[in-house]
Amino acid sequence: MSSLQAEVEQRGERIFDLVDQHPESLFSRAGFYQRMMALSMRDEHFKVQMFRFVDVLASLRRGSDIVQHLDEYFADMRNGFAPMIHTGVRVAKVVPWISGRVLRWNVSGMARQFIAGKNPEDVMKTLRRRRKEKIGFTVDLLGEAVVSETEADEYAARCLELLEGLAAQTRGWTDPLGAGAELFPVVNVSVKISALYSQMNPADPADAIAHLGPKLRPILRRARELGAFINFDMESYAHKNTTLALFKMLFTESEFRDWLHAGIVIQAYLRDADRDLRDLIAWGRKRGTRFTVRLVKGAYWDYEKIKSRQNGWPIPVFLQKPASDANFETLSRVLLENESIVTAAFGSHNVRSIAHAQAVAEQLGIDRSRFEFQLLYGMAGPVKRALVEMGYRVREYCPVGELLPGMSYLVRRLLENTSNEGFLRAKFSENVAAAELLRDPHELVRQSANGSEADGETRAVASVEFNGASRETPPGDTYENAPLANFVYKQSQEQMRTALREVGAQLGRKYPLVIAGEKVRAKETTASINPSAPNQIVGDVAAAGIPEAERAVEAARRAFEKWSRTPFEERASLLERVAAIMERRRYELSAVEVFEVGKPWAEADGDIREAMDFCLFYAQQMRLIGRPRLTQHIPGEESYQHYWPRGVALVIAPWNFPMAILCGMVSAALVTGNTVIMKPAEQAAVCGALLMEMFEEAGAPPGVVNFLPGHGSVIGAHLVDHPDVDMIAFTGSREVGLRIWESAGKTRPGQRELKRVVCEMGGKNAVIVDSDADLDETIVDSIYSAFGYQGQKCSALSRLIVLEENYDRVMERLLSAAASLRVGNPEEPGITVGPVIDETAYRRILQIIETGKTEATLAFQATSVPAEGYFVPPTIFTGVKPHMRLAREEIFGPVLSVLKVRDLDEAIEVANNTDYALTGGFFSRSPANIERVKAELVAGNVYINRSCTGAVVGRHPFGGFKMSGGGTKAGGSDYLLQFLLPRVVTENIMRHGFAPEETPLYREEFLPRDALRRRHTNR
Ligand SMILES: Cc1cc2nc3c(=O)[nH]c(=O)nc-3n(C[C@H](O)[C@H](O)[C@H](O)COP(=O)(O)OP(=O)(O)OC[C@H]3O[C@@H](n4cnc5c(N)ncnc54)[C@H](O)[C@@H]3O)c2cc1C
Repeated sequence: MSSLQAEVEQRGERIFDLVDQHPESLFSRAGFYQRMMALSMRDEHFKVQMFRFVDVLASLRRGSDIVQHLDEYFADMRNGFAPMIHTGVRVAKVVPWISGRVLRWNVSGMARQFIAGKNPEDVMKTLRRRRKEKIGFTVDLLGEAVVSETEADEYAARCLELLEGLAAQTRGWTDPLGAGAELFPVVNVSVKISALYSQMNPADPADAIAHLGPKLRPILRRARELGAFINFDMESYAHKNTTLALFKMLFTESEFRDWLHAGIVIQAYLRDADRDLRDLIAWGRKRGTRFTVRLVKGAYWDYEKIKSRQNGWPIPVFLQKPASDANFETLSRVLLENESIVTAAFGSHNVRSIAHAQAVAEQLGIDRSRFEFQLLYGMAGPVKRALVEMGYRVREYCPVGELLPGMSYLVRRLLENTSNEGFLRAKFSENVAAAELLRDPHELVRQSANGSEADGETRAVASVEFNGASRETPPGDTYENAPLANFVYKQSQEQMRTALREVGAQLGRKYPLVIAGEKVRAKETTASINPSAPNQIVGDVAAAGIPEAERAVEAARRAFEKWSRTPFEERASLLERVAAIMERRRYELSAVEVFEVGKPWAEADGDIREAMDFCLFYAQQMRLIGRPRLTQHIPGEESYQHYWPRGVALVIAPWNFPMAILCGMVSAALVTGNTVIMKPAEQAAVCGALLMEMFEEAGAPPGVVNFLPGHGSVIGAHLVDHPDVDMIAFTGSREVGLRIWESAGKTRPGQRELKRVVCEMGGKNAVIVDSDADLDETIVDSIYSAFGYQGQKCSALSRLIVLEENYDRVMERLLSAAASLRVGNPEEPGITVGPVIDETAYRRILQIIETGKTEATLAFQATSVPAEGYFVPPTIFTGVKPHMRLAREEIFGPVLSVLKVRDLDEAIEVANNTDYALTGGFFSRSPANIERVKAELVAGNVYINRSCTGAVVGRHPFGGFKMSGGGTKAGGSDYLLQFLLPRVVTENIMRHGFAPEETPLYREEFLPRDALRRRHTNR
């Protein structure tokens, strides 16, 4: 054993001895809380329900609501809690008023376990008590999720008030250790950066810093005058780089350069932590003044893991607990070795981590007065006492505020206390032996049978069995989505900036038609305009006339003969090659979308990702359905079902997802063996031309895809009616969609097939806000759903239906959140609202707003939008009634109508009372109401407690019914079937009473002969 390990063990045992002299349960407050936590640790389902119940409780006002939620959350419990709950609920139903109060009191008691006071005065009681115990404090103002600048300004004002209050109340307090006091002011305040600016966007750290600097400077100035210390807490990974950059910028400014009472947090669970810490230290040395680093493991582990998995990003945190512990130790040493410039604060309750820091400090000869241990209020009381007794400096992190804004903090603490892997649970609840708790985490990492972190991760991904669909495998699980670009990384930001520069320098290119593999110049061209700067021509695209349309049909018909007989494997590979080209040109394509259709960065990237997903997903789906498959095992007979392509597919796409929707429809048609005439929207024809380029580069044979931009009124109707066009895949307006649907229904002379129409149209999407909804989530997601990409998504939120009980609270926050939105040219990162697509849309939407003013109340309209370009100010109408045009007609712009309703019955009725059925949403924390809405909301895609836009291929097959479309689901497992003709071949295989015993599951001879031949020669 190394001498350091021996020292760590000795110190750890000493702490444990002291801890055991004052035994205390993990949950120092007995009673309700203790019972809840014990049950949570035994029963995962109970834990989930319990945390959800705690989460909603603070927002419930009536006793009867509390009782109802209690019943809904725990009615199906089958553990020791069940009888208690059932009796409780029975009693409560009789006297809901009292029971509600009792429950609220009990849960508030749980919160009081972790929240040191409601306000600065209230917290002083705790701070005075701690002072007697020689424990210092840092106070944190609860309230992290600010949705508007009003809320952010309030937070800044409260920080100043807090500083003043603490300074006044602690006048005359001295440092508990005496020595080293100059490094550790008595008043210490921890601030959360995200609470000071509501529009933080990882893609735009410069904007965040520009807004945060002016808010923080007065706080820092006052803190300095008062002799206080300010610490920047660290939050989710998305804000990490901005927080670090902001810290460095502010404390390099001449006013604060020589101030040593500033600190920041490093989270050891992050793989970046080592690099970040060393960067900080190098910065500190250059600055020349001491600063503090609080080293913690990190409080958002579950969140980071979930978020990364959802977006296909590398997971920024370690995945094995000992790896975080080991990194904490490595970084403890780095901190202590640089004690000459950085003061270390170790934020941990883990005795091993603490003992290790002590041992390294001892080894390096650093006096114990020159660093400190920080622990959270309400946790590990005996450890704090033990450290004080050993003569160490201890500071307690004391959150202050109301329960409602403090809920996410409370839930993080509950999670931490019940975590299977946490130290506190192991020591104080499960009594794990000291020797076990003091083991060297580096050794545990080495020993881990799983090997390296990366191996563990790779295995987790590989465990998903691709192409191995079974009844138990959800269809989406067989497919892994392409990742989104993560603009947290500087590199991604730079790549996007470079792409914008390069694409911007080459605007105005000319794009020909492509028919039968030949570039064709047309008599007419259409200029595609940048809606942010209408004088700028993004590209000049040829516009086909009737003769070119005829040639395209002929080419597609000719190419069909061969393409339909090409093995599906080759067709699928073509799509995969297109996806690979998109990946290579990803930022360039996003940049083109920014210029051509005014998409903000993340929206543009999302569109490219979706296009890639369509290619990859449909390729995979084709492999699943491509082989003729036995329909049933029956002796003496074989029946195989398989598919033939339909023929020539006409694809007519909209401009709002210029790459994804066009590519989705084209790739579905191609992979199923059809040939395609691709007609992009006029406003997004450059994107269409680039897609054509990529299909050509990927090796699409001549005539298989034909690029035919042009005016819908000239070639659209002609092609729809053409007898040689076998199917039409259309996404766009209701007006055009219905015309196509009707026209395609007529059979014309020479027509071989009944035309199939895949038709996706608009929506008048509603989101209902229940009286118990989590408003932090509701406001952010509703604002995004309504105004993201200027409301120009068919899935966008158009009607917000709010229950009257909650109405005032929702509106207050909604209006101020809308007022905080960033409207501007989307070339700038971090813009949420850009221009609408063109002048016609601009005028139409402004006209709708004018008419809207005559029927409802204009509650909000943004005042500052760029003068140049088609910028429609985000607008909110209230007092909207279901019969009004604002509530019935699709607007396709940044206009939101708010409808107030009595109750959920009325809300559902209003939501469903529309011609459309595309997306719908519900914000609620009532399990019963959620179940009801899931069952009753009439929409193709129903979203609960999240935004109603942003469908992901494979995960959220997308499409609606009623006047929203023909009931198809793009990105779903049955989408390809619409591009195919099903066929069954049955053979009697019995001869004179004798039949083979086995029939193969697949038979390839039903595939077209050419395909078979090639399949065999390719082997
Ligand atoms: C004074 C103070 C201030 C704090 N400020 C911040 C802050 O600004 N930002 C912040 O994020 N946190 C902050 N924290 C919270 C802190 O991150 C958690 O309390 C801490 O992670 C718990 O660690 P521990 O050493 O006490 O317990 P332990 O039980 O030893 O460690 C638990 C931690 O290990 C990590 N972990 C758990 N499971 C795994 C796994 N499977 N793989 C890898 N790692 C895992 C997680 O970080 C988890 O929180 C602060 C804590 C204190 C005491």
